[in-house]
Amino acid sequence: MISRIKITAENGITINYDNKRIDMDPTRKSNGDYKFISHAHMDHMGGKNSSGNIIASKETAFLAAQRGVNLKLESNIPKEFTLVNSGHILGSRGIILGDGKVFYTGDFAVKPRAFLEGCNPDECEVLIIESTFGKRDFIFPSISDIQEKVNRLISELFSRGIPVILMGYALGKAQILSHLFSSWDPIYVEKSVWEMNKAYIDLGVDIRKDFAVYDSTKQNEFLKKKPWILISPMQNRYNKFVADLKKDFGAVTVAFSGWSIDPRYKYKMKVDHAFPLSDHSDFNELVDMVKRCNPNKIYAVHGFEEEFATHLRNIGFDARPLGSGQSSISEYFFD
Ligand SMILES: [Zn+2]
Repeated sequence: MISRIKITAENGITINYDNKRIDMDPTRKSNGDYKFISHAHMDHMGGKNSSGNIIASKETAFLAAQRGVNLKLESNIPKEFTLVNSGHILGSRGIILGDGKVFYTGDFAVKPRAFLEGCNPDECEVLIIESTFGKRDFIFPSISDIQEKVNRLISELFSRGIPVILMGYALGKAQILSHLFSSWDPIYVEKSVWEMNKAYIDLGVDIRKDFAVYDSTKQNEFLKKKPWILISPMQNRYNKFVADLKKDFGAVTVAFSGWSIDPRYKYKMKVDHAFPLSDHSDFNELVDMVKRCNPNKIYAVHGFEEEFATHLRNIGFDARPLGSGQSSISEYFFD
């Protein structure tokens, strides 16, 4: 059998494969034969009205529903499509078309983190790889190293009675934080984080259920007894609730993001401390991923796609960035 493949970056990544059009993580409404939604972050779900022929994991559909997006999953997924764990957030998947012909990673992380397994790829012929941190500067320490440093910081602040706000995206990062730092007491979780924690718990993830819920619109009497930890979405110090918690309780903010490798990050984000805990792969992990997949052709998408493709060419791979609006130069024929 001969398969013909064309890859285009428009409204996410579009792949024409065997006369079928598959839209990968469309950013707006799309009308491909299938839509592949790699995970439940809002910018990957094609808006609130995604419907029909959707390929995603059951966990992604469940998490999307908690966020008001109804993903009607396709019940007959063609047998030549295979979903694989991508390790980015709960339920995140990459997709392989054909028998290892094309692998679209979606957002992915190689490092296992808390309850999440890392992405563990097989070889493929064409690799479409997310390259958010595809620049040499972005090399992250181990999770245990970060955990140890943060525990030391919390311990030092607690010894002075100072409360700590741990901040990361409400879906994904906040659940990792809830798991990694669960041995501290008391821990409170901001309302939107709690909703996602609860969804993870419903999906069988081991996260503590007894965190009291902080709601910035209400009186939260429990905060008066210091110190405490609050797990919150990312906010800067001018955000009203963070500003209030700093004014009323002297709380210190700690942000978690891969971008914090840049020493300017914490000033730009107006937070007190920052640690490079990421739900994406770092530069070395991206290169390792490529080596393990050992593809004939690589397309780098997102972030530092130019720099990453250049590095891959320098080490002998056939790689190019696929920026918005660009198409693959050649079409592929496999037999
Ligand atoms: Zn994401």
